[in-house]
Amino acid sequence: PVDYVATPLLDEGEAVGVVVAFTDTTARRELDQMKDEFVSTVSHELRTPLTSLRAALGMVASGVLTSRPEKAQQMLDIAVGNTDRLINLVNDILELERIGSGKAELHQSNVSVGDLCHRAAELQQTSAAKAGIGFRFQAENVFAWADPDRILQLLTNLISNAIKFSPAESEIFLAATYEADGEVCVAVHDQGRGIPADKLDLIFERFQQVDASDSRAKGGTGLGLAICKSIVQQHGGEIWVESELGRGSTFYFTLPSRPSSNLR
Ligand code: ADP
Repeated sequence: PVDYVATPLLDEGEAVGVVVAFTDTTARRELDQMKDEFVSTVSHELRTPLTSLRAALGMVASGVLTSRPEKAQQMLDIAVGNTDRLINLVNDILELERIGSGKAELHQSNVSVGDLCHRAAELQQTSAAKAGIGFRFQAENVFAWADPDRILQLLTNLISNAIKFSPAESEIFLAATYEADGEVCVAVHDQGRGIPADKLDLIFERFQQVDASDSRAKGGTGLGLAICKSIVQQHGGEIWVESELGRGSTFYFTLPSRPSSNLR
């Protein structure tokens, strides 16, 4: 599908030709369609926890549980859990929209990737320790031209996934190196359940999960990796994953090492 604008070409007031500019509207239509799909998926994702929340509160409000305080407490716990899930979902959706629309400006500087890896691991220390998971690092003396807050958010997302999908007594390995082209490559490796080959690209899309029960069982929203991808793309880098089922996964992302290498 195309739109066109025709402008007459005048020579001393006399029409000597016409300039026609064609615009391919395919991209715009695709964008509109993506937005429609997103709204419908979001509505669906919101409806599930809202329905559970309504049912749990409905039970308590009806008064049938007044003589069964434990059951009432259980319903309230369900209500709280679903409210948390709704808050996480809305926060992730807003975050994705902020980055995707370019409203989230990057504040790039020369940052130590090693320091960021250590800080991100520290932020997850409690949940890692609870799951019996340890960290190992090999990211010293690597510097990237990046927004430290955004990279911390990205690493935190990847580490939190690694913890969620790894068995007890396993290890998460964080590494950073300089590539031949001068970019920095960061790797987050886990010894978890792995990802099937046909899902390796898909999981970076919004609301895509390997297993439909992942969001409920693991408390995720299915938006974490989509946020990671937006952050990396905003820096001009790439993100991908390599994985072996039952053995583990390694998420890689690249960042510019200098201001100029950001310009492609
Ligand atoms: P979620 O909020 O569900 O974690 P993400 O976008 O972060 O959403 O991840 C999407 C899906 O990718 C997860 O639900 C899970 O199925 C898969 N996944 C992500 N990280 C890992 C990992 N380290 N190991 C195994 N599977 C993973």
